Amino acid sequence: MVQRELKVDARCPACQSMGLMLRTMTQTMPYFGDVLLTTVQCDACGFKHSDTMVMTQRPPARHTLRVAEKQDLEARVVRSHSGTYRIPELGFAAEPGEGSESFVSNVEGVLGRVQEVLVRARLMFPDVARQARAEELLALLARMVQGEEPFTLVLEDPFGNSAILSERTQVEALTEAQASELRTGMTILDVEDLQG
Ligand SMILES: [Zn+2]
Repeated sequence: MVQRELKVDARCPACQSMGLMLRTMTQTMPYFGDVLLTTVQCDACGFKHSDTMVMTQRPPARHTLRVAEKQDLEARVVRSHSGTYRIPELGFAAEPGEGSESFVSNVEGVLGRVQEVLVRARLMFPDVARQARAEELLALLARMVQGEEPFTLVLEDPFGNSAILSERTQVEALTEAQASELRTGMTILDVEDLQG
């Protein structure tokens, strides 16, 4: 691990103070290879922005795992900052964006993240119909966690840095057009099915 620290002559985007700290760190991570972590921090107001850049680029890819048995829930999932994951059966998609994290987890852990989003969504919906829809999806998700409900986990990455590590994972190359439709880092979580 190599770490550097530097004071930069730039204004804080939050409070306009001068003198942001820039910290960079290179780290070798499983599957990702060499990763450059950067953090910009303002000592005056506490503003902080972190980013991850994967130094090894791979071709754009889609990983698909049909989760049919309980043991599939244990498959490792590596989601980089540029990864989009979807569970079509729930109408759920998490795209790269502010506040989205890269993580190394397993399928069950991914379901846990989806659950958090659905619970938040349910609390935010003002109307009874959409609250009830969120409730239905949470019940479906609970059965998925128990291995009682088969589903599909799709993970797409325009930089090829995300993966579902299982021998049953189907890996497809994405065309340039498909890859260019994927978001790469400036959007937010959204629950497609719950929007309309
Ligand atoms: Zn500041």
